[in-house]
Amino acid sequence: MSDLILFWHRRDLRITDNIGLAQARQQSPKVVGVFCLDPLILERNDVAPARVTYMIGSLRELQASYAQAGSELLILRADPRTGIPALAAALNAQAVFWNWDIEPYARQRDRAVLEALHEKGIKASNFWDQLLHAPEDIRSGSGNPYTVYTPFWRNWSSRLKAEPVERFQGAVGLTSEEKAASQQVGAIALPTAKDLGFVWENELVLTPGETAAQERLEGFCDRALSDYAEQRNFPSEDGTSQLSAALKFGVLGVRHVWAATTAVMEQVRSDEARDGVQTWRQELAWREFYQHVLYFFPALADGPYRQPLKDFPWQNNDDHLQAWCEGRTGYPIVDAAIRQMNETGWMHNRCRMIVASFLVKDLIINWQEGEKYFMQKLFDGDLSANNGGWQWSASSGMDPKPLRIFNPASQAKKFDPDAAYIRHWLPELRSVDTEDLLSGKILPLERDRCGYPAPIVDHNKQQSLFKQLYQQQKAGLGVEA
Ligand SMILES: Cc1cc2nc3c(=O)[nH]c(=O)nc-3n(C[C@H](O)[C@H](O)[C@H](O)COP(=O)(O)OP(=O)(O)OC[C@H]3O[C@@H](n4cnc5c(N)ncnc54)[C@H](O)[C@@H]3O)c2cc1C
Repeated sequence: MSDLILFWHRRDLRITDNIGLAQARQQSPKVVGVFCLDPLILERNDVAPARVTYMIGSLRELQASYAQAGSELLILRADPRTGIPALAAALNAQAVFWNWDIEPYARQRDRAVLEALHEKGIKASNFWDQLLHAPEDIRSGSGNPYTVYTPFWRNWSSRLKAEPVERFQGAVGLTSEEKAASQQVGAIALPTAKDLGFVWENELVLTPGETAAQERLEGFCDRALSDYAEQRNFPSEDGTSQLSAALKFGVLGVRHVWAATTAVMEQVRSDEARDGVQTWRQELAWREFYQHVLYFFPALADGPYRQPLKDFPWQNNDDHLQAWCEGRTGYPIVDAAIRQMNETGWMHNRCRMIVASFLVKDLIINWQEGEKYFMQKLFDGDLSANNGGWQWSASSGMDPKPLRIFNPASQAKKFDPDAAYIRHWLPELRSVDTEDLLSGKILPLERDRCGYPAPIVDHNKQQSLFKQLYQQQKAGLGVEA
C-alpha cells in the first residue's frame, strides 16, 4: 500500500474546517480528493437546476483550492458503490476517509462502500462533520432521541461546541502514472451543470464556493446578525443570511459558523443584539434537530409521522396544484413567494411556511406534492430541512401543536405591511391599493386590468373543511381530540 489517502467529498465542499479532511492530512501529506456525480441522485425527478449549478460552481472552487494546497480533486461520474472502491484500488490507496451523512440513501450507500472497500482490503475512516453534535450524542434523560425541538434545544445548546479545525494545506498530489490510472477508472474533467442536463440562467442568491460563503457569513455577522430577531420575519428585508445552500453542501463548516456567532456575542452590548445572535443560533439548532430526527426516524422521508395524516382524504385537485406551482392562486402573498422561488431558487422562511400551509390547509393537497416541488426548485433543497418544514406545516410531523393554520391575509398584514414584497414579485399588481394587496380582496375589474387571477378557493371555507376532515380522521382512528 502507498501512503495515499483518498478523501471522498459529499456534503463538505470545502477545505476549511473539514474534520475528515484535516484528519486525513494529519495521517499523510498525500491526500487526494474525489467527488462522485451520482446518477442515482442526479436522475431523480426532484433535482433543482439551481441546486446543481450551485454545487458544480462550488466544486470548481474546491478543485482550485486543492490545486493551491498541492493536490487535486478528482471527479467521477459513477455510482459511488462501485466508483469509490475502484478508484481507491486503482490508486493503491491506503485508506478512504469521509464524513458521515444522516440521509437514509447516503447511509445505505455508505454501508455498501464500506463493504466493498473491506473486500478489497482498503481501510476506511469516518467522522461527524456536518453537525455540531452527532445524533448519538444528544439524547433525552431516558436515553431516547428527541422528537420535540424545545427540549432538544435545551440539551444541544448547553453543550460545549468544538472549535473549527485546521485548513487543508501542504499536500502532495498524484504522479502522472496515478493520474492515468484514475482516468482509466473513470476520473473526468468537471462538467458544467448544462453538460449534466440542468439549465439555470438566473443569478443565484449566493455565489458558489467557499470564498463567497465566508464573505457572506462575515457580512451577515457585521450587518444583520444582531437585528436578526426583529428582522428575520419580514420577507422584503435583507434580514436573514441566505447561507442555507452553503450549509446544505457544507461549503461552510458549521464550527466555523458557530465561532462567528460567538465572536459577535462577545462584542454586542444590548439585550436585543444578544437576542438576535441567540435566535439565529436557534435556527442552526433547527437544522441539526431535523437532521437528528431523520437519522433516528428515516421513515419520515417517505411519509407522515402522525396517524391522522396517514391516508388523509386529500382533494388533490391538479389545476389547483398547477396554479400553486405557477404562483396563480389569486392570493398575492402566496403567489409572490412562489414566484420568488421559481425565479431565484430561494424563498424566505416566513413565506415557505405561508405557502406550505396554503397548499395543505387551503387547497387540501397532499403535502408531499409541495415537498417535491420545493426540491425541484430550491437551490438549498435539503431532505431533512425540507421534509421537517413540510411535516411541520402539514401537521403531520413531530410538532406538539398540530393544527396550525396560517391565514394568508393576516400573515401578509403582519409581515409585509407595506406590501413591498408582494409588489416586488408581482409587478403587475404594483399600482393596486396596499390594503387590497394584503387582504387579497382585489376588485374583479382591477384584477382583469392587471391580468391577475381570482382566488382559486375561499380560505375560510377550506380551513373549516380541513379541520373537519382532520377531526374525522382522528375520530376514525380513536385518537383523542
Ligand atoms: C416548508 C419548508 C421547507 C423548507 N425547506 C428547506 C430546505 O429545503 N432547505 C433548507 O436549508 N431549509 C429549508 N427550510 C428552512 C428555512 O426556511 C431555510 O433554511 C431558510 O429560509 C434559509 O434561509 P437563510 O439561509 O437566510 O436562513 P437563516 O434565517 O439565516 O438561518 C440560518 C440557517 O439555519 C438553518 N435553518 C433556518 N431555519 C431552519 C428551519 N426551519 N429548519 C431547518 N434549518 C433551518 C438553515 O441552514 C439556514 O441557512 C424550509 C422551511 C419550510 C417551512
